Amino acid sequence: MKHKLIAGNWKMNLSKSEAEQLLTDLASNAHASNKYQLAVCVPAVHLGKTETILANSSIKYGGQNCYTAEKGAFTGENSAATLKSYGCSYVLVGHSERREYFGESHTFLKAKVDTAIDFGLQPIFCFGEKLQEREANHQEAIVKQQLEESVFHLDSEAFSRVVLAYEPVWAIGTGLAASPEQAQEMHAYIRQLIKEQYGTTVANNAYILYGGSMKPANAADLLSQPDIDGGLIGGASLKAQDFLAIAASA
Ligand code: PEP
Repeated sequence: MKHKLIAGNWKMNLSKSEAEQLLTDLASNAHASNKYQLAVCVPAVHLGKTETILANSSIKYGGQNCYTAEKGAFTGENSAATLKSYGCSYVLVGHSERREYFGESHTFLKAKVDTAIDFGLQPIFCFGEKLQEREANHQEAIVKQQLEESVFHLDSEAFSRVVLAYEPVWAIGTGLAASPEQAQEMHAYIRQLIKEQYGTTVANNAYILYGGSMKPANAADLLSQPDIDGGLIGGASLKAQDFLAIAASA
């Protein structure tokens, strides 16, 4: 059976000492499991400590963003090559906060997906509909467009390195998670789209995470859905106890 991927998104949180404490708590309390893989996506400034503290643990880690060039005059940005040099396995691409506050377009995200793969990172590609789009029953069309414009150009080998994270925007940071039925329905639809694009084997092997107010209280119900392959967790990944409790429910 596929293991679940339980990935944390710390967003722009935690001081140096807070980050070190959380990493230490995770490293000392997480046990290698064949049921789940843990990962944390940390602010880039914490990557040095992350690499050191998680060195002997089973926890993988990644960045929250990368630019599309390998290096150069792009003040304030971090490259996929640099993330890789810190031992990152993953990088978040297309989080709704990047789309909303930094105006990241489908085309730009497509280039970021390509860059991440070129430099040996697995992009965790985030996508999902806004509240008005769900209220208008347009969620499937929106999700299909997001995948077609930024991910489905990949060949099947490259696509198999992408982790998808369906994150309905109305569920992120609101405390209002999608119901297990709503999430499962969308995940099954996404898997069907992958099947049409890449065939059954790639679709069955694909990782489709759910993100949006996942917490210990609702994780088991969400993670037990057949098409939910793990979670992308924001707020609840900032407390070791909550994050590990979510993993335990996998
Ligand atoms: C996220 O930021 O990807 C997320 C899912 O946040 P939260 O769990 O806080 O809703």
